[in-house]
Amino acid sequence: MDNATWGHIKESLAGAVGKSNFSNWIEPLEFAQLQDGVATFHVPTNFMGDWVQRNYADNILGALTKSGADVSRLKFAVSSGAPRQPAAKPTATPPAQAGHDAFGVPGAPLDPRFTFERFVVGKPNELAHAAAKRVAEGGEVTFNPLFLYGGVGLGKTHLMHAIAHELVTQRPDLRVVYLSAEQFMYRFIQALREKQMMDFKQLFRSVDVLMVDDVQFIAGKDSTQEEFFHTFNALVDQHKQIIISADRAPGEIKDLEARIKSRLQSGLVVDLHPTDYELRLGILQQKTEQQRAAHGNVPMADGVLEFLAHRISTNVRVLEGALMRLFAFASLVGKEISLELTQDCLADILREADRKVTIEEIQRKVGEHYNVRLSDLIGPRRVRTIARPRQVAMWLAKKMTSRSLPEIGRRFGGRDHTTVMHGVRKIDELRGTDSQIAEDLELLRRALEA
Ligand code: ADP
Ligand code: MG
Repeated sequence: MDNATWGHIKESLAGAVGKSNFSNWIEPLEFAQLQDGVATFHVPTNFMGDWVQRNYADNILGALTKSGADVSRLKFAVSSGAPRQPAAKPTATPPAQAGHDAFGVPGAPLDPRFTFERFVVGKPNELAHAAAKRVAEGGEVTFNPLFLYGGVGLGKTHLMHAIAHELVTQRPDLRVVYLSAEQFMYRFIQALREKQMMDFKQLFRSVDVLMVDDVQFIAGKDSTQEEFFHTFNALVDQHKQIIISADRAPGEIKDLEARIKSRLQSGLVVDLHPTDYELRLGILQQKTEQQRAAHGNVPMADGVLEFLAHRISTNVRVLEGALMRLFAFASLVGKEISLELTQDCLADILREADRKVTIEEIQRKVGEHYNVRLSDLIGPRRVRTIARPRQVAMWLAKKMTSRSLPEIGRRFGGRDHTTVMHGVRKIDELRGTDSQIAEDLELLRRALEA
């Protein structure tokens, strides 16, 4: 194989990875050699090599193999001839097309499916959606940062990508960078190691819109937090839009510096609530159309989508996975998607969903019931009006989930397992003597099982 052959092969990847990812990550790869099943490419920076290895190795290996090359592994080497510099000088950086040109601030690839068109709006996510839409218009920065939070699989990443897609199309002049907090840390550590901190700082301070996903990741990682804080402040000072996501509210992220928490709260904080039945049904309907486009018109019995919307948990990713499996299976065996086939094919997911009451749900329901804020429920305050509901929540967590005492303790603000045990015993005791408590428990239990 030679560089020209590689030139042809790589063109075939453009469709698979998307145009901007292609020009950022694949286009610059220079084929060096193929030896003993290892294909080596020259890349301008180590970071880029790592990135391509992590995100596109499968695509590239697939394309190479398809063209007949005998290759099982990829290697990326910084070309020694070229100056190592393209890495980082902002002055040498052309404005980013998709916001993540390989030689400027590297962001993560955007998922082409995560658009606003494909985002189904319902009560639980309408606020988050509206806020995301507003930011995507790219007008004057009115709330900064936009902080989106919610449980896993509720659409945080989807919304962030949707904002990025929209901005990149509407305002190609803007430098939009999306990355996960983990990638931010990775970049930061690499800059430290390669003594490129000045470049790192300048680069991150030169973006127009910065999106950092899953920011809870940097909790407890002190120097990364520190750097994130400075980047954040520098951008806010320049009136650049920042969009952050996390799996919980800023105030509830443990081991995050107080000043960062308060900074994160200073803009607009919106949460994505767990999906409800209507939203799940809406999402299933939309995804069914997409599956039909992919699998042809597999017939489906009435009531299947309703059944799934009822029975499967709030996590949209699980819902999606179930539907995909159903379609793949039905089209494989050439059968209609009946209720029976659904139950057979998804037995494990349905079983899992059945006993899925999460500690978060318990805490939320208990908080609502006793009118206690979540932060108090998991916080340190010991007054009876808070401590008792907390013990009730611990009791429910012990009885209704498969979590261990230490795990429950951790979810209640990092308490010791003996504290949880004490709480559970106390409630067991009160259940026999205090009819109000007994009634509360019954009510909560029923609400959670519903
Ligand atoms: P999170 O980042 O909150 O964990 P994701 O954004 O990755 O969740 O969403 C998980 C999956 O569910 C993705 O495939 C996403 O497209 C899909 N999804 C989540 N919410 C919606 C929605 N409202 N409409 C359509 N798809 C959704
Ligand atoms: Mg996510």
